[in-house]
Amino acid sequence: MTAPLITMVGSLNLDMNLRVPRIPAPGETLVASDFEEAPGGKSSNQAAAAAKLGARVRLVGAVGDDPAGQVLRNQAEMLGVETTHLRTLHGVPTGCAVIQVDPSAENAITVLPGANAHVAPADITECSLTGSAIVSLALEIPLDTVLQAASVAKAIGAKTILNLSPYQEVPDELLANTDVLLLNQHEAAQFMGCDDWSEGDAVQLSEKLARLGVGAAVVTLGASGAEVVRVGRAGEPTVTERIEGFYVAAVDTTGCGDAFAGALAQQLAQGESLSAAARTANAAGGFAAERRGAQSSYPAKEELQNWTMRNGNEARGIRGLS
Ligand code: ADP
Repeated sequence: MTAPLITMVGSLNLDMNLRVPRIPAPGETLVASDFEEAPGGKSSNQAAAAAKLGARVRLVGAVGDDPAGQVLRNQAEMLGVETTHLRTLHGVPTGCAVIQVDPSAENAITVLPGANAHVAPADITECSLTGSAIVSLALEIPLDTVLQAASVAKAIGAKTILNLSPYQEVPDELLANTDVLLLNQHEAAQFMGCDDWSEGDAVQLSEKLARLGVGAAVVTLGASGAEVVRVGRAGEPTVTERIEGFYVAAVDTTGCGDAFAGALAQQLAQGESLSAAARTANAAGGFAAERRGAQSSYPAKEELQNWTMRNGNEARGIRGLS
């Protein structure tokens, strides 16, 4: 029997990481001490995280007809990600991000959407999503394309995950087609129209989800873990659940949110409950925080199993990885 398919619809970027003595002021030229190119972009990262954990993943998006596009396609294929619906566009550059990081880990990022801006609703057909158990969406491609993907996903009976990142206001129609809304605490605060996210906000969030017809949400809280909010249906109570973060010596939290998102999709595709899936995703995020880079910091299934064992998964209620 083939494994359930996860289709990630979204962005691929080539990250250009520069280590700088400080973030340059306007007009200033600085000498960087290090440069590293790495595959990035939310959906490329999330596909990598899920595939490394053993999921069957398809990536739907676009790259340019340039060396960066080839790097991103090769990386996805090396991880076993299906790229039949990853288009190569002529005359547009592949998406890229210039990331300057100073010694205190402060950063300044400039993103060129490039080919990602050209992923159109017409690219999202029943054919590109066919066979998906889960369709996972993020907001680095045009919003009308995300809307189309959520609507086609629902039409074919797939479960949808919407990563509301980078944050923007989205139409109610998109939320009504969302089974699991995934946000970090800053995005959650923006979604709730407040300055900061605090513990008590989970109840208000659940009320908003119920009003909008969203099935559930997971709010990631950085080192503090995550909060799962399941909206009660047909007489069931709404349940909010805090998942403690792992104690790790974090060296680089770039791409931790994507590690979490990819692992969440992989676990849900395996039929795990949202609570169990979020616990494993929390471990994947912690694992990634301990290592440099984005995709290079994501665990394979056995690595994550061993890591969670060493880091006290019993206390966090993680069972074996399925
Ligand atoms: P984003 O990267 O989208 O801002 P978060 O910072 O909330 O998202 O991180 C996502 C997940 O990664 C967290 O829920 C947690 O599981 C893990 N994580 C991130 N930073 C740390 C850290 N310093 N220590 C332990 N886990 C972390």
